[in-house]
Amino acid sequence: MKVRNEITEIYDQLIKQMRSYHPSSDFSMIQKAYEIAGEAHKEQKRKSGEPYFVHPMSVALILANLKLDKETIVAAILHDVVEDTDITVEDVEREFGHEVAFLVDSVTKLSNLSMEITQAQMSKEALKHESFRKLIMAMSRDIRVILIKLADRLHNMRTMQFQKPDRQVAISKETMDIYCPMAKRLGISIVQTDLEDLSMQYLYPEAYEAIKAKIEETEQSRRIFVNRIKAEIYSGLKEADVECDVEYALKHYFSIYRKMINKGKTLNEMYDIYALKVIVDSVRDCYVTLGVLHDLYKPVPGRFKDFIALPKSNMYQSLHTTLISSDGTLFEVQIKTREMHEVATYGILAHWKYGMPGENVQTLSGSQKEKAEWLSQILEWQQEISDTDEFIDLVKQDFNLFSETIYCFTPKGDAKSLPKGSCAVDFAYAIHSDIGNHAARCVINGRVCPMETVLNNGDQVEIITDSNQKGPVAEWIHFVKTGTAKNKIHKYIVEGKKERKP
Ligand code: MN
Repeated sequence: MKVRNEITEIYDQLIKQMRSYHPSSDFSMIQKAYEIAGEAHKEQKRKSGEPYFVHPMSVALILANLKLDKETIVAAILHDVVEDTDITVEDVEREFGHEVAFLVDSVTKLSNLSMEITQAQMSKEALKHESFRKLIMAMSRDIRVILIKLADRLHNMRTMQFQKPDRQVAISKETMDIYCPMAKRLGISIVQTDLEDLSMQYLYPEAYEAIKAKIEETEQSRRIFVNRIKAEIYSGLKEADVECDVEYALKHYFSIYRKMINKGKTLNEMYDIYALKVIVDSVRDCYVTLGVLHDLYKPVPGRFKDFIALPKSNMYQSLHTTLISSDGTLFEVQIKTREMHEVATYGILAHWKYGMPGENVQTLSGSQKEKAEWLSQILEWQQEISDTDEFIDLVKQDFNLFSETIYCFTPKGDAKSLPKGSCAVDFAYAIHSDIGNHAARCVINGRVCPMETVLNNGDQVEIITDSNQKGPVAEWIHFVKTGTAKNKIHKYIVEGKKERKP
């Protein structure tokens, strides 16, 4: 009786949450999915002993909390029926239409990746590559497939205490290797950080416990400090006529751990285990706030970052600075607008907008995804490159490099973000493929340099084109770092267009 209640409770929460954001009030399709899937999973139990149906319903609720559309929620409720019950994809299509059937079918085909891990004949690397390949291919068809997979993984990670220890480690590793970077790339940090911290509990339990203990032990003194600083910031900004909210947010355990490893620091040396977030109304107010704060406190040199003028490649925007309080304590502040705050949390999902009933409702499978430049680039690559392995290599490369980004500028001051190690050819192609194809020389910070020159952060780069140049130099393929440049040069060579002599 108790468990029956648990499922109806999740259902009630799901409908309540959907009413809060979804323009339609007709949730009969949700109810139908709930009834059909509930009946199909009726006899099945999870390792915990609770009814299996708790799982798909929880996945649906995670996605409703991310404000996804009705089809995605329905597909989430149904996501395990084809795999685990007698219901077929054809049944789903008949009852719920093509869109839902496509989502369920795609998720089913992606499932069992982790099962394969323990039974793998393949090497770990090959398997990782294969899992990654499947995910990317699915995503390039419809991003909602990946969103369902991410929610599925999140709920499985949250309820992993009933698995055997070796499974816990294997699944956590896969989560860290594949799902976390995926969530990060889409900017959905609310899911990424949760997945990272859950995986960390199984992969680095001692570090996890040590960080947790340290944070709890210092929480009270930190609160007292933060409250004082908050009050000072509020009054400073009030004087400057800036309306703001100041939020105190602890960093996630894994991001603290990652920083400790990267910087070779002990826990006691880490001052940035939390950040103050100052949320204001406009971009103008962000910079006013920065000025006020740098007047109130001494900033730490070299710690200021302007991600508003130069957004990260997953669309993250904010001003970051580290300040010194009157008693010498360092603290980090992030300054952003409400909208930037939304994007920082929900990434690509922050731009999800619903039309009213009857309107042409936009979905992530449609034009919204154009907003994520990276995604549309993947789609472009996918259309242009027929060799799957080559396509995946390009995406992987982009994936691995994106955290280390440099910014270079055109003579007019337009910024181009490039992976570290990029050369002037990458820059030329980042401007336009015609510029790349006809590039003759480049001028970096006022000096004429070869096109193969590796660029540094902040370089000003001018590309001089020559319309007599027909196509790129074939050797460039060995120097370029970006997928775009590699792809364009490769295409030129393959299509047998006359390449020029170096
Ligand atoms: Mn599942």
